[in-house]
Amino acid sequence: APISAAARSTRQWQEADSAHFMHPFTDHAGLARKGARIITRAENIYLWDSEGHKILDAMSGLWCVNVGYGQQALIDAAARQMKELPFYNAFFQTSTPPAIQLAELLAEVTPPQFSKVFFTSSGSEGNDTVVRMVRHYWASLGQPERQVIIGRKNGYHGSTMAGASLGGMSGMHAQGGLPIPGIVHIEQPHWFELGRGQSREDFGLTAARWLEAKILEIGPEKVAAFIGEPVQGAGGVIVPPSTYWPEIQRICDRYGILLVSDEVICGFGRTGQWFGCETMGTKPDLMTFAKGVTSGYIPLGGVMVSDKVAKVLIEQGGEFNHGFTYSGHPTACAVAVANIRLIQQLNLVNHVRQNIGPQLAAGFASLEDHPLVGETQTCGMMGALQLVKDKASGQPFDPALEVGMLCRAHCFGNGLIMRAVGDRMIVAPPLVMSRDQVDEMMALIRHCLDLSL
Ligand code: PLP
Repeated sequence: APISAAARSTRQWQEADSAHFMHPFTDHAGLARKGARIITRAENIYLWDSEGHKILDAMSGLWCVNVGYGQQALIDAAARQMKELPFYNAFFQTSTPPAIQLAELLAEVTPPQFSKVFFTSSGSEGNDTVVRMVRHYWASLGQPERQVIIGRKNGYHGSTMAGASLGGMSGMHAQGGLPIPGIVHIEQPHWFELGRGQSREDFGLTAARWLEAKILEIGPEKVAAFIGEPVQGAGGVIVPPSTYWPEIQRICDRYGILLVSDEVICGFGRTGQWFGCETMGTKPDLMTFAKGVTSGYIPLGGVMVSDKVAKVLIEQGGEFNHGFTYSGHPTACAVAVANIRLIQQLNLVNHVRQNIGPQLAAGFASLEDHPLVGETQTCGMMGALQLVKDKASGQPFDPALEVGMLCRAHCFGNGLIMRAVGDRMIVAPPLVMSRDQVDEMMALIRHCLDLSL
């Protein structure tokens, strides 16, 4: 029989949860005291918990449910594929129709330099793949000393050893001896925190030139690649100044360094283009994706490999000793094909760019009159509120305590999921939102802020 949420009381679910389930990124002592909120079902942009509360999911799960919940086309695709061929691998010179179709479709919707894909099951595995792939690329070209990969502080590229090393989350580096060798970081392009003495545009150039300084410090002949999220998501929706990415591109081109765009959050329409690099005006050599490729209905990730890189790997690299049991998983690929076709049919990328993205931007800008809001930033369907305790002095909220409390107590308690990151509150709602639903979300956000005064 299917698992029924009604089979146990909330308390019973919570007790079993804290007895047996170790959650990611969770303080378990706190969780055991309070009990997890048990989410039992979802439809469109709403969730329901085991107590029957309806909640507007302004985070799309974990930045992934781009087409919203309950899409029958995705459900049918999974069921059909599970019946026909639930699993077969892509090792040993075998392939499957869903993986081939997805590879073809990805080549169609990604920028023109990409016609090949390497599949993984998650964004972290995608970024692990990037580390091995760029080093193997340079070794194949006869430059094995090009090993160093440059990432950014407060960037997020996953939780595996290589993913967490590429990322610049100090809390993650503090556990487990990270970063692994050959990965270094520069400062992030966070104007509110680092650049307020300069115009945004000037600061964008300054921040990009930290990359150039780092390359020169290491020696360009030792640098393999630079990796960044077009908009830093988990770091707090840090939208860089418009001057930043074009300058990064110029620097990568100048020193012949591969540019890797981590599109795990920004991909599949979130920024108002299919991929964030298109919004930011870069031409990456590799592109990691996950989340929105299946709208989170089933795990799938991968790396888009540009023709320039693929040619070297194929013609000079020999066998790439890398891959996963689930690389090209047929059921996951079938769901991804249905998801991408649905994004196309619903014209969601244009919907974000022309309709709800500008509406979100206007809604967030209108919150700047609020006494707790220092600045707002949006890009497509991602938004951040920089909270201050005192607007005049810019005195920040105590991030660990107060912003987290505000989210959990006021937002969750009032039917809204937002997320707290440091002293920022962020949203990344489903791309299928109607204009009325954006208004509904904005009213909830203002209400929750008012409760915190
Ligand atoms: N890269 C970015 C930009 C992400 O936001 C994430 C996850 O949030 C990852 C990589 C890691 O993806 P996953 O959690 O699927 O391993």
